[in-house]
Amino acid sequence: MPLDASLLPSILLVDDDLTVIQVLSKCLSGLGRLRFATDGEAALRLAREDPPDLLLLDAEMPGMSGFEVWEAMRAEPSLQDVPVIFVTSHSEEGMEEKGLALGAADFIAKPVRPAIVAARVRTQLRLKLAIDRLRRMATTDALTQCANRRVLGERLADEWSRAVRRMRPLSILMLDVDHFKMFNDVYGHLRGDEALIAVAAALRQSAIRPGDLVARYGGEEFALILPDTQQDGAMVVAAAVHEKLEKLQIEHRASERGWLSVSIGIASFDDQSLGRERAATLLQSDESPPAGMSVERLLAIADGALYAAKQAGRARSSFTRIDLPVRDPQ
Ligand code: GH3
Ligand code: MG
Ligand code: MG
Ligand code: MG
Repeated sequence: MPLDASLLPSILLVDDDLTVIQVLSKCLSGLGRLRFATDGEAALRLAREDPPDLLLLDAEMPGMSGFEVWEAMRAEPSLQDVPVIFVTSHSEEGMEEKGLALGAADFIAKPVRPAIVAARVRTQLRLKLAIDRLRRMATTDALTQCANRRVLGERLADEWSRAVRRMRPLSILMLDVDHFKMFNDVYGHLRGDEALIAVAAALRQSAIRPGDLVARYGGEEFALILPDTQQDGAMVVAAAVHEKLEKLQIEHRASERGWLSVSIGIASFDDQSLGRERAATLLQSDESPPAGMSVERLLAIADGALYAAKQAGRARSSFTRIDLPVRDPQ
């Protein structure tokens, strides 16, 4: 059966000497998808395009040295966790000490011995894939593949402080599946789980900006964070969710509509949340975000709107504005 090449780990080989690249690619051909670069700039370009799972980096190259390439990578969030194996000649022994101390994955001496290179690369790839897997498990909800509650809390804290600091809008949506207990009672838990997966997919299709976050808050409750989004934008996203679920028509006999719907509470921090004067004062001051607005408080505000949507008949959204709290007197 042919292997799907995109599932193989990706390895980037960088050396100004083409003979070395040839030798290395021969040793590593079975271990991953290989890409090559013969100078530092090209290496960085390829790495940025698609961060590799492992980088084999010549320490000594004309122009940008291997160490300079590594330094540039460590300054970029998307590349700072890429493990790097330096390939060095004997004259660079001092570098090994420095490189390992700074977190290089390994050093391989030139001339390279194929069996040793292959073994060390295999070890580093195994480590990298295990770390990736753990990171995914720690941040993703296993059933729906949405972000989990921990990520929701961290992102909301970040986005809130950014919104207040820069006086940018921010919207939070809390969603709860309508009459879901009865859905489980009528159709069973397995169908219930399938329905949650379908709801999560509808949310991902509705909140499509790169900065948007879709998270499972718990049970049949989800939360969306929409940075840089005012009330009207948040309403559009919520309307898209309702529309998608109505189109899906997941049967729910025990609900008044006959299909599975959600209720949504929308909370926005935006232009209307504060007067211009107050915004200008805050922008000019070095004050940290006002106290009294914890993640829990923000979610509780959206939850209040959600409760109103339930009370008003479900399968709809309700809106509330987030006001900037008055700073506690010190
Ligand atoms: P409401 O419209 O007021 O929200 O009614 P509801 O029945 O949805 O509300 P309630 O909070 O009483 O029930 C939520 C139900 O969601 C309880 C539980 O059976 C179900 N549920 C929570 N998590 C899961 C899950 O992971 N899988 C399945 N299948 N059901 C779940
Ligand atoms: Mg060289
Ligand atoms: Mg609930
Ligand atoms: Mg519910």
